[in-house]
Amino acid sequence: MALELADPRDQEFLLFEVFDAASVASSEKFAAFNEKTSKMLLKEARNLAVKEILPTNKLADVENGHPDGIKLENGKVSVPPSYKEPYKKYIEGGWLAMSDEEEWGGQGMPHLLAMACGELFTGANCAFLMYPGLTHGAGNIIKEFGTDKQKATYLKNVFTGKWGGTMCLTEANAGSDVGALETVAKLNDDGTYSISGNKIFISGGDSDLVENIVHPVLARIEGAPAGTKGISLFLVPKIRVNEDGSLGEPNDVETVGIEEKMGIHGNATCSLAFGSKGNCIGELIGEPNKGMKYMFLMMNEARQGVALQGLGFQSASYANAVNYAKERIQGPNLLEAFNPDPVKVPIIQHPDVRRQLLLMKSYVDGCRFLNYYLARCFDLATLAETPEEKDKWMGLIELLTPIAKAYSTDKAVEVASSGVQIYGGYGFIEEYPQAQHYRDAKITCIYEGTNGIQSMDLLGRKLGMKKGKPLMDLMGEVMATIEKAKNAGLTDIADKLQAALNKVGDCAMHMGKTAMSEKIMDAFGTATIFLEICGDLCMAWGLAERAAIAQQKLESAKKKDAPFYEGQVTTAKFFFDMLLPTAMGRMDSVKNTSAAVMAMPEAAFASK
Ligand SMILES: Cc1cc2nc3c(=O)[nH]c(=O)nc-3n(C[C@H](O)[C@H](O)[C@H](O)COP(=O)(O)OP(=O)(O)OC[C@H]3O[C@@H](n4cnc5c(N)ncnc54)[C@H](O)[C@@H]3O)c2cc1C
Repeated sequence: MALELADPRDQEFLLFEVFDAASVASSEKFAAFNEKTSKMLLKEARNLAVKEILPTNKLADVENGHPDGIKLENGKVSVPPSYKEPYKKYIEGGWLAMSDEEEWGGQGMPHLLAMACGELFTGANCAFLMYPGLTHGAGNIIKEFGTDKQKATYLKNVFTGKWGGTMCLTEANAGSDVGALETVAKLNDDGTYSISGNKIFISGGDSDLVENIVHPVLARIEGAPAGTKGISLFLVPKIRVNEDGSLGEPNDVETVGIEEKMGIHGNATCSLAFGSKGNCIGELIGEPNKGMKYMFLMMNEARQGVALQGLGFQSASYANAVNYAKERIQGPNLLEAFNPDPVKVPIIQHPDVRRQLLLMKSYVDGCRFLNYYLARCFDLATLAETPEEKDKWMGLIELLTPIAKAYSTDKAVEVASSGVQIYGGYGFIEEYPQAQHYRDAKITCIYEGTNGIQSMDLLGRKLGMKKGKPLMDLMGEVMATIEKAKNAGLTDIADKLQAALNKVGDCAMHMGKTAMSEKIMDAFGTATIFLEICGDLCMAWGLAERAAIAQQKLESAKKKDAPFYEGQVTTAKFFFDMLLPTAMGRMDSVKNTSAAVMAMPEAAFASK
């Protein structure tokens, strides 16, 4: 049977054999989510993803006659028509707010289970999932920082997907440097604010999927300090909401353009003009000038969402590649080279194709481990009994978020590229699914803080936070896996993981010191490679953990389960034999912290 999206056996392995989801279900909070219910929900999510959402992925790439699958007519955006029905089913199923409280329309699920369901949805069609995904992000802002009145007005409508939501940060001259934004907010007599300014690249900035859209907008109150210190956060509805909660007058928010993009054509990337007629009303969220602080708090979720998108692309591309490699007949098996009339075989028998499949599987499995681990940290933080315990899990989330975001998305492009390669010429042809994954995946390295910005966050903020405790905690987690691998008899893997851990530890010390010395620019010139080796270590850790558990299960495994467990051990061996050595070389390059990056004269980058 063909594999579709994430491997269901592997999802269950991670949930119930690696991360012991059952222990979370033994708490009062998550008691409804025992193994049986969780498996049922995962199956429901898969059905919706495969049967309803996946078929729209290719369709929406070109629907509506616009190269971006989106139509803008008379200031109104129409999304690909094929999205309407799946969106209805998605929100009716309560999938938009899987882990949120029931009082606001959520399902109250553990984050780990929600992560597994989310991988299926976003893997089926990332551009589609961005509508409810951003809506959830906007809802979370209201939940965390909104007043009771704001919650009562907006939250349930947003978490049930009746209304949509966005994130409005970017402006033409304020991308990575959000503090440069020019959108202005002027206090009115009634306590509301008049907003004026232009935002660009706003995902789901308008759509006809929902009755109303709530825009969290970053703007500067007149007279506020320059830079990030003077930024406030506002709720700006597309249609104003009356006191009784009914919809009132349209607000002065206009979609003035939609972008034609390289990928994610099914998502409306809008230029929005706020207050071009002088009549855009917004409400302040929280306190003035604390907008960036609030946004930072929300960024973990948004960045984890993008990391999950990276994983979704990887698993979808891998599933296609495996299916194709089993079906595509091309050439004889190498061992039949001297046979004058050899049988032609499926390409999965060719060593180089198997190498690529294993490379893809290593990253898919490793990134799935990393992303699910993060979700598990959330659950453990939620259930923590002491502040110290909660701090530990929250610290790990902070540390691992930039790594998960940048590494999962960079690897998404690499994995999707291998996915194209395995299809040969057909990979380059749009009739087949791989080209779209490759095009679509690239944006995940750019938005929600480019991957370069993630590496700066890791080096500049996360590495030394809380006197390095999160890093020490991470090392402790890896050490525990090393012990497990030893106990399972996987000594080679245990030794290599120990060597990688030691090297990354040395690199972290070195980078921390260099970033605080006169060589700070050299350190930041190496930050991306440092993040990459941290990601490599996480892959090694995850694959070793999987292998150690699988190795022990193999002894008593039923015949039907044995190949899965063997596959876990073999994938780890492949990674440790063939991919980790190059990562160890990169670790050496981090310790070199080359001065060449900054020594290069600007005039020498090109002779003209
Ligand atoms: C399809 C799409 C959807 C988007 N959706 C949204 C959305 O919903 N909401 C929203 O607000 N924004 C959105 N964005 C905007 C996105 O977040 C920005 O494009 C991104 O943050 C980068 O900003 P920029 O394009 O201005 O690039 P720049 O900031 O100009 O960056 C250009 C390059 O310089 C590097 N760079 C910049 N500053 C530094 C620095 N200090 N140190 C090191 N390197 C640096 C960057 O890493 C990048 O490689 C979207 C963009 C796209 C294309």
